[in-house]
Amino acid sequence: MLTARDCLCPRYRAVGALQRYRDVTSLGNNGTLVFAVFEEDAERGRFLGLVDVREAALFPARVFADLLVRRQPPPLDPATPIEAVWARFEAERCDFLPLIDADGVFRGVVSRLALVAAMMEHERALSQERERLIANLHCELENRRIAAAVFDATAEGIMVTDAKGRILLVNAAFCRTTGYSEQEAIGQTPALLKSGRHDAAFYAAMWRTIDETGSWEGEVWNRRKSGEIYPEWLHIDLVRDEHGAPRYYVGVFADIGTHKELRAQLMHLAYHDALTGLPNRRLLLDRLGQAIARAQRNDTEVGVLFLDLDRFKDINDTHGHGTGDRILIEAAHRLTGLVRANDTVARLGGDEFAILVEDIADEAALADVAEKLLNAFSTPFTCDEREFFLAASIGIARYPGDGDTVDALLMNADTAMYGAKQQGRGRYHFFASDMHRRLARRIEAADVLRKALASSGLTLAWQPQVRLADGMIAGAEVLLRLARHDGAASPPTPAELVAAAEESGLITALGQWVLRETCELGGRLDGLASRLRIAVNFSPLQFDHGCAARVLDLLGGCGALAQSIEIEVTESVLASENEHLVQALETFAAAGINIAVDDFGSGYSNLGNLLHLHVDKLKIDQVFVGGLERDEKSRKIVQTIIQMGHNLGMTVVAEGVETQAQAQILREFGCDLAQGFLFARPLPFEDFARLLASGPLTAQ
Ligand code: C2E
Ligand code: MG
Ligand code: MG
Repeated sequence: MLTARDCLCPRYRAVGALQRYRDVTSLGNNGTLVFAVFEEDAERGRFLGLVDVREAALFPARVFADLLVRRQPPPLDPATPIEAVWARFEAERCDFLPLIDADGVFRGVVSRLALVAAMMEHERALSQERERLIANLHCELENRRIAAAVFDATAEGIMVTDAKGRILLVNAAFCRTTGYSEQEAIGQTPALLKSGRHDAAFYAAMWRTIDETGSWEGEVWNRRKSGEIYPEWLHIDLVRDEHGAPRYYVGVFADIGTHKELRAQLMHLAYHDALTGLPNRRLLLDRLGQAIARAQRNDTEVGVLFLDLDRFKDINDTHGHGTGDRILIEAAHRLTGLVRANDTVARLGGDEFAILVEDIADEAALADVAEKLLNAFSTPFTCDEREFFLAASIGIARYPGDGDTVDALLMNADTAMYGAKQQGRGRYHFFASDMHRRLARRIEAADVLRKALASSGLTLAWQPQVRLADGMIAGAEVLLRLARHDGAASPPTPAELVAAAEESGLITALGQWVLRETCELGGRLDGLASRLRIAVNFSPLQFDHGCAARVLDLLGGCGALAQSIEIEVTESVLASENEHLVQALETFAAAGINIAVDDFGSGYSNLGNLLHLHVDKLKIDQVFVGGLERDEKSRKIVQTIIQMGHNLGMTVVAEGVETQAQAQILREFGCDLAQGFLFARPLPFEDFARLLASGPLTAQ
């Protein structure tokens, strides 16, 4: 409440005025005139003090302010309410009233103006306060609104109960999860949600923990309004009142059914191939392990088919991985449609699939499955409006015959698949125990070769090629040999070493070594080499893009001997579309290097290429030479090859000549040269050099 104290005129606070006022009041008593003295005018001038009439007369020359107080007014009490002060101003028709507090101390003057100002100030303060209150109220309302929004937007369900367990409050997530509306839930107890999955002991333990520690957390199975049971992760907090007694229970829960679904999805990803959705290797191994255990118990068989798409890499390389992927998806789809529901089609990676077949009757049943799977590729795959013709090779291994562990079965099926590929692709092959032996030999041959290349463990055998007309040595073929056997019972044969080199990527290094060694040894033959053709075997895989440059570079260092080198390629090379090979052969021909076609007649050759590729020499395959004496067909073939070679201006050599009779027939047919045990076996270089120096060769 505003009082007179609040309306003191700050401007009229006179120094020493107190004393003067007392003097005046004591002097004049009733009716005494009191003048308030101001500097200039009353409203703006400084209040100088109060004077009585007498004193006022002492200031004639000064401008006295209006006579403010005509008589000494009863002073105001500081606590006088402002309305009463105003009433006095009105009643006494004055503008100023002195303020004396309870102790009689003069505090100053209250003016109408100060009163109005105080009232206005008061009013302003009030309105400020009102505004502040309103702002606070807004803020509070906003906070509450946010809190309510958070409460409702929280993904977790929230339920607040009173101390007796009556539900007071639920949020939107609660309603979503449980299916109960706010109205349905409020006033109920959480028993509304009980699924019946937990016994009384479970809840008793839960409440005990809450009582003791103030909270509890764990998995609870509850029931939605729809009757569906679901798992939730529930956290309960006890809120106590100021006396420590339970007031509210706040339960916050997350529906972990979706988490479980997510986990199931992750599990699916871990055990399935992302591209095709088929079980992956891990799941296959798992299922194969279980199948073996079942078969063991029930005395049944399990089949594993290892399927590899033939030449799939070509599609990836030429049409891109996108096309490759779509074909793999389609292949997976076709394969899955062909097996029984409880069989497993898995993708092992790349273009490799494995099919696990349980409860098979016999080998014929597995062969049927393999046939069916191969048939899946009989219709072309359509991708981007193009048709792709694919085939697959399948290897089959069986439990228990071909192995009794997961690893053994898969490995043997893989080995069998390799056999199918070797036999011409697009077919299936059962695992046979000797496959392992062959596989082991392949691995061993690669090992032996690697070591031999690194430690001068290789040498060359020289086998003469003899002119049938006069027995003169016209050339030689150099053949790869191991220098040492290290006592091995059956060291790898030259053909196995070459195959191992081709498989392991060592073929280029091996080819270079053979050529270098040939040049080096050939150089030691001095003048004798100039009338020889020294044939070096080349694997088709040696013809990569750097082949021609590498060979010419090496031969460049051999001087005149380079003209004596002859390159032998197998007949299948003629059918090849390897552009590096065609280019290299053209470069060699241009450099004066002879080209001979090895094992002619045994493989498929494109006869047109005989001319196109500047072939100088044909070497008739030993198979036909071996049949010369006993079979008319062989004779016909040999005779035809000789005639054809001559017609094309080529020299013809017969390989594997072992008997005089064969040599005689060949001579009659007009064959130029012969190579074989009849004249000489492949010899160490020194022996060959001696033989060369000793003149014409007659049959041994
Ligand atoms: P190829 O080029 O056809 O060599 C002829 C093979 O016949 C040689 O076998 C030789 O020892 C054998 N031979 C020679 N005369 C007779 C005979 O009268 N009767 C019989 N039964 N066999 C005879 P080898 O040395 O075991 O070589 C086998 C194959 O290995 C060669 O067949 C060739 O394709 C390959 N090869 C050998 N050395 C090399 C080489 O340095 N590089 C390449 N790329 N391949 C080589
Ligand atoms: Mg050869
Ligand atoms: Mg040959």
